[in-house]
Amino acid sequence: MAEVAGSFDIVVLGGGSGGYACALRASQLGLSVALVEQDKVGGTCLHRGCIPTKALLHAGEVADAVRDSEQFGITASLKGVDLAGVNAYKDGVVTRLYKGLQGLIKSRGVTVIDGHGTLVAAHTVDVDGARYEGRHVVLASGSVTKSLPGLDIDGERVLSSWEAMQLETVPGHAIVLGGGVIGVEFASAWRSFGAEVTIIEALPRLVAAEDAACSRLVERVFRKRGIAFKTGTSFASVDKTDAGVRVTVESGDTYAGDLLLVAVGRGPNTADLGYETQGIEMDRGFVLTDERLRTNMDGVYAVGDIVPGMQLAHRGFQHGIFVAEDIAGLRPAPIDEDGIPRVTYSDPEVASVGLSEDKAKERYGDDAIVSLTYDLSGNGKSQILKTQGFVKLVRHHDGPVLGIHMAGARVGELIGEAQLIYNWEAFPEDVAPLVHMHPTQTEALGEAHLALAGKPLHAHA
Ligand SMILES: Cc1cc2nc3c(=O)[nH]c(=O)nc-3n(C[C@H](O)[C@H](O)[C@H](O)COP(=O)(O)OP(=O)(O)OC[C@H]3O[C@@H](n4cnc5c(N)ncnc54)[C@H](O)[C@@H]3O)c2cc1C
Repeated sequence: MAEVAGSFDIVVLGGGSGGYACALRASQLGLSVALVEQDKVGGTCLHRGCIPTKALLHAGEVADAVRDSEQFGITASLKGVDLAGVNAYKDGVVTRLYKGLQGLIKSRGVTVIDGHGTLVAAHTVDVDGARYEGRHVVLASGSVTKSLPGLDIDGERVLSSWEAMQLETVPGHAIVLGGGVIGVEFASAWRSFGAEVTIIEALPRLVAAEDAACSRLVERVFRKRGIAFKTGTSFASVDKTDAGVRVTVESGDTYAGDLLLVAVGRGPNTADLGYETQGIEMDRGFVLTDERLRTNMDGVYAVGDIVPGMQLAHRGFQHGIFVAEDIAGLRPAPIDEDGIPRVTYSDPEVASVGLSEDKAKERYGDDAIVSLTYDLSGNGKSQILKTQGFVKLVRHHDGPVLGIHMAGARVGELIGEAQLIYNWEAFPEDVAPLVHMHPTQTEALGEAHLALAGKPLHAHA
């Protein structure tokens, strides 16, 4: 058996959002930490997920602003989209953040161990033959692209999000399999770059995890933008052709395109890492934990995408911070998963926190729930931006706000206030007297709460 190469208070297996957040917070609390990473600290979010895709979407927004400039009395024309230039901008953002993160991890005294880790005993991680012991071990190995049976991602014509964000030319026609967050965001960016796009989604609506009102708005705006979508349509097979791909769906209809993006979700990255062999309780590859993120094995925790629930970077950060504090004996309060805000960064954006109207009715009964929708057409800043959309509130009829759902340009930025309202269990009557700056889109949140508190200002009673 290999000698022990190092002993720490915590050994973290995986340096993505969940893992590095845990390492940073633990070192702040005076614990010694080893962070095992086989690729680059920052993980999926920084290198292959959140950051690069949001840079692509922003570049798309710039293209749309030029294209639509006449609406604002500005004469400009879009000469083209230079995807190499877009990629250079995107990669520059990632590189700067990566350097910053490396510096931060170093300055906090976290020991980064490069290599492939496996759990070889309850408190031991093997990294390419060297053994590291931790009083506690935190599993944070993240997620990988999922596919469907018989659908092989070849990286050339059938792509995962990773290849999709590295394209060197704008596709003529992209087929996107999956109308969830990742599919909708790529569809939106590619359309902004000038591509024809068709989304194929098995569920009855796009962004199906969101309140139905958000799906309707996304679908309406996508139609207007010329993004085609087929909902309630299941994939059957894909053939590679000289021109690209031909996708056949269960009805027998076919869709031809230059490429197919597979965006049917992400699965936990837990195979062959020693978890099962060591007796960690799992379900379909996910690591099961209690509300304190403890696995069934004493001293072993799990954070981020490998824990069943929403796969979001900020959920990973929060998991990591929680576990570090729990290990340090601070007894943090368990995380309310419904209180984790969600944003889809397409045009239009969708942002939500708390329960959808349907879920609130399921939980509290139809009669206990009141909802109110404030249309952004009554909001000055939204008129200036020429965006359509709404703020929808769901409340318990004599209780707090249970859900906030928004769609329209830039609404992702409004979720900061919305999450305070939900997580502090505010009543609409508590929010109504708070002053919102004019003219901003945050006023729409204020107006919605005024209306729900029975004193609408810029809205019909
Ligand atoms: C295209 C795309 C867009 C996204 N956009 C957003 C967004 O806008 N907002 C948002 O909140 N979330 C977004 N996400 C999701 C987000 O990236 C994840 O939720 C987040 O990265 C999860 O963090 P994690 O720490 O659990 O895992 P990861 O970030 O996947 O990190 C796991 C790390 O562990 C390392 N690792 C794995 N196995 C081993 C091993 N055996 N040994 C050593 N190291 C190992 C990996 O190399 C990786 O660095 C997006 C994801 C994708 C794919």
